[in-house]
Amino acid sequence: MFYDELKRFSWDETTREIESKTARDVEIALSKEHRDISDFMALISPAAAPYLEPMARLSHRYTLERFGKTISMYIPMYVSNACTNGCVYCGFNHANPFTRVTLTMDQVKAECEAIRRLGPFENLLIVSGEFPSLNGVNYLEKVLQVARPYFNNLTIEVMPMKERDYYRLTQSGLNGVVCFQETYHEAAYKTYHPRGMKSIFEWRVNGFDRMGAAGVHKIGMGVLIGLEDWRTDVTMMARHLQYLRKNYWRTRYSINFPRMCPAEGGYQPKVIMSDRELAQLTFAFRILDHDVDISYSTREAPEFRANMMKLGVTSMSAGSKTEPGGYVSSPDALEQFEVTDSRTPLQVAAEIKALGYEPVWKDWDKIFD
Ligand code: SF4
Repeated sequence: MFYDELKRFSWDETTREIESKTARDVEIALSKEHRDISDFMALISPAAAPYLEPMARLSHRYTLERFGKTISMYIPMYVSNACTNGCVYCGFNHANPFTRVTLTMDQVKAECEAIRRLGPFENLLIVSGEFPSLNGVNYLEKVLQVARPYFNNLTIEVMPMKERDYYRLTQSGLNGVVCFQETYHEAAYKTYHPRGMKSIFEWRVNGFDRMGAAGVHKIGMGVLIGLEDWRTDVTMMARHLQYLRKNYWRTRYSINFPRMCPAEGGYQPKVIMSDRELAQLTFAFRILDHDVDISYSTREAPEFRANMMKLGVTSMSAGSKTEPGGYVSSPDALEQFEVTDSRTPLQVAAEIKALGYEPVWKDWDKIFD
């Protein structure tokens, strides 16, 4: 399990190693054909800041070779904001006093129909808070069964589960699972996640092994930018990704680097990542791993998403609502975070085409399952 592997790496030593990287290390990393984690550390280090242009060119080349001129389109569907956890940065935090909403199956069906009217989406991301008795495995199984006729590719972003539960959901149409570790700094993790199942670092970080062992087709990972030193966190995530690729080689992988947005409760990020730094990180990941799907959500601004489309990003959400029931009406339900790109899916698709790329709505078919 990755928790045991992670113990081999010291957070502080990793930070020091990144900070000690020089321009020469960056040049060596750029000149190699196959890079390792040490090269990745050089590429995300402050020493690589003057090398953004050659990094962008390389990232563009690898992305074009592996993905062509395509951007895969997906849309989230929030089904429940009930949550027993107390993540200090999240509007759905258990302590926030607001009326919780868990969609009925009729409401889920209505949401699916409303999403299909927005655009020809086939990749649906089903999102829920963590409240096992309300939105646990039984509930999610029903949601998948209701959503299945409308979409070819179903991914969940919900509580970590047991291996047998992941397997059970794959039998009801589940294709992918997204889970953010938030941070790999175990001591700090406990201060951000003080209660509920999410407070157990080991359970969460080993969840990816359980997904792989259950045969989940695609696994999405990420750290929440704004908690701890982002360079150290993404280095740990890169190690985690390499471990998963080795152990669960049949699975496809995606990564995402969500930058913290204002949420109910007004939590202020400890660390701010600039657009330039996010671009540097995106290029560095593509240069390290040519095949990983890099996803940008509507947290990011339209102009920035457009610029990054040719330089490493391979999937994007569009038209997102981050409250349960948000596509059918504009209910009073609380949003998890505010979106920055509020354009319609068709407007986003038109821009992708104008930039010479193809928006891909469908890249998976039910018959492959
Ligand atoms: S981040 Fe997820 S688990 Fe944490 S409070 Fe929000 S909905 Fe619950």
